[in-house]
Amino acid sequence: AESWQNVPLAPPDSIFQLTAAYKADTFEKKVNLGVGAYRDDDGKPWVLPVVKKAEARLLSSPNLDHEYLPITGLPEYTSAAAKLILGADSPAIAEGRVTSVQTISGTGANHLGALFASRFYSFNGPKQVFLSNPTWANHFAIFKNVGVEPLTYPYYDPKTIGLDYEGFVGSLTTAAPKSIFLLHACAHNPTGVDPTKEQWNKIADVMLEKGHYAFFDCAYQGFASGNLDNDAWAVREFVKRGVPMLVCQSFAKNAGLYGERVGALHVIAPTKEASDRVKSQLSVLQRSEISNPPTYGARIVSIILNEPEMFTEWKRDIETMAGRIIEMRKQLFHLLTVELKTPGNWDHIINQIGMFSFTGISPEQSKALVDKAHVYLTANGRISMAGLNTKNVRYFAENLDKVVR
Ligand code: PMP
Repeated sequence: AESWQNVPLAPPDSIFQLTAAYKADTFEKKVNLGVGAYRDDDGKPWVLPVVKKAEARLLSSPNLDHEYLPITGLPEYTSAAAKLILGADSPAIAEGRVTSVQTISGTGANHLGALFASRFYSFNGPKQVFLSNPTWANHFAIFKNVGVEPLTYPYYDPKTIGLDYEGFVGSLTTAAPKSIFLLHACAHNPTGVDPTKEQWNKIADVMLEKGHYAFFDCAYQGFASGNLDNDAWAVREFVKRGVPMLVCQSFAKNAGLYGERVGALHVIAPTKEASDRVKSQLSVLQRSEISNPPTYGARIVSIILNEPEMFTEWKRDIETMAGRIIEMRKQLFHLLTVELKTPGNWDHIINQIGMFSFTGISPEQSKALVDKAHVYLTANGRISMAGLNTKNVRYFAENLDKVVR
């Protein structure tokens, strides 16, 4: 018999399917609010000016070769990336307690972190991880792939279109001691709802009491507030307070390097000795998976992070992106509440954070937007704010108004 005769057909990835449908649509006013990639005010991909400069510098460098990187990646990239997320003055870095490994963007960081946990975490019972409900859909697949069963903790409350804080803390309290909780560091995907500083503090209290492990995923540093340090606040606070943790980091969004796959996994250990052992095991895992990570994107980010002028320019570029998104939130809110007087409360449009917004509309209403208005969004009512611009926000608001009336 044929070897692959019995392979079942897998469903297509819903988000990439949505993008394909958008591309195939010939309607002039079509709008893509599906995929989480930044677009400029003309709806076009934006290559950050600082990235163009870093690329030019890189390609003019006389000693550029195409040798393999070390297994754990480009050292000047990983060390600068650690400082970016943990803080340049991080005591954990100074004490040699941080292991940083260059990964295939944030997805690769999540995978390597999950694989490492699956092999070496002292699970208190079955191998399980708690994911926020809802979360980035890929989290489920990533943990299942390495034999860790994903469970969920309450996160989003549809009644308030905000955080289910009681449910979240309740889940932390009732989970078995030493459970792993995946936390979105900032700009939660898909809801755009983040805990406040007070809430983060309480979450840290309970995690310390119960000995839980924080598996931070940070895919949007800079996109929440427009400020890299503000958006790293929770991560740094947890390190300071000694919550056992790791962080997955991605430069896809904040540097617009989606396809270059630049990321890192940072594991914080209690001592330098433990950190050295962690590094040795991460190297063994990485070797069998990808041997060593790719050079191009890491070299670009390394230039940006290590040269003060480039770094300053990058921060301006991030402000440009975050600022445009925040402006779109304001315009959409104004159109719905003042001009169109759309029924319902729309405060969440301006209160939610980052690239995404959970509109609170039903799957039927979302479908009506796709079918009737050529506005592409996921069935859960999530919209990527980056897909809105000054030319299409009114068209979107008017059609949103129509489906909720
Ligand atoms: N985590 C979250 C929460 C995300 O939203 C994303 C991007 N959609 C990622 C990780 C990983 O993205 P990438 O692999 O492109 O860095």
